[in-house]
Amino acid sequence: MTEKLYLESLDAGYYQHFNATVTSVEDNQVTLDRTLFYPLGGGQHWDTGALTGPNGELNVTEVRGRNAVHHTVGQNHQLEPGDEVRGSIDWETRYAHMRMHTAQHLVSGIVYEQFNGARTVGNQIHANGSRIDFNPIAFDETMLSTLVESVNQRVDEGLLVTDSVMTREEINAIMPPDRTNMDLLPISVKELRIVQIGDRLDMCPCAGTHVTNLEEIGHINILGKKSKGKGTQRIKYDLVGSPQLRQPYTKVL
Ligand SMILES: [Zn+2]
Repeated sequence: MTEKLYLESLDAGYYQHFNATVTSVEDNQVTLDRTLFYPLGGGQHWDTGALTGPNGELNVTEVRGRNAVHHTVGQNHQLEPGDEVRGSIDWETRYAHMRMHTAQHLVSGIVYEQFNGARTVGNQIHANGSRIDFNPIAFDETMLSTLVESVNQRVDEGLLVTDSVMTREEINAIMPPDRTNMDLLPISVKELRIVQIGDRLDMCPCAGTHVTNLEEIGHINILGKKSKGKGTQRIKYDLVGSPQLRQPYTKVL
């Protein structure tokens, strides 16, 4: 099991550097006791960056794994279990993912409220352009412009984004399970990390990285929609406008 430093709090997502110990190595995949690298999951793409060990700096090109997090580096890495490394994530990519992911929660929450409880049935968060699938929905131009207007208005309000740990019962008492997708989670999961926008404007179980203020997103721009069949439509978006961008912390975790 790798300790996931980015998951400690939303604020922890703003750290860029950390120290860790190599726990195992398999070919070009290196597992650490702790990491700031986000592994592919929950629709969010992995972080890239570098690991610096006894033999120099190695690029991290892929990160996967739910419990143990595997960092893919070059073939001739020479790392061994017990080696100490300094990890650094690519801040530009990480921050883009944070902004895109919070935007996704905001869009999903507003679509549910404005368009008869249409659910989010899929999402892909990338640094340049992201997408969300909704069902049941049949967006027309008016609906899309209303959506963009509502989302950008919330951004301008500078609502805070917070996280907390809640039980299944607590979450379901506040929001319908089809809005939070709680009904899709295995019954064995009792406690979840909840990401909340403003005063319960949106609440969603999520292990992703997020910004702490909507002003950091900027405005969303919908690039297009596409039918995926059976009442499902996909929208693609990117981020524009004048976001209040933050810098990463310089402290090494
Ligand atoms: Zn999420």
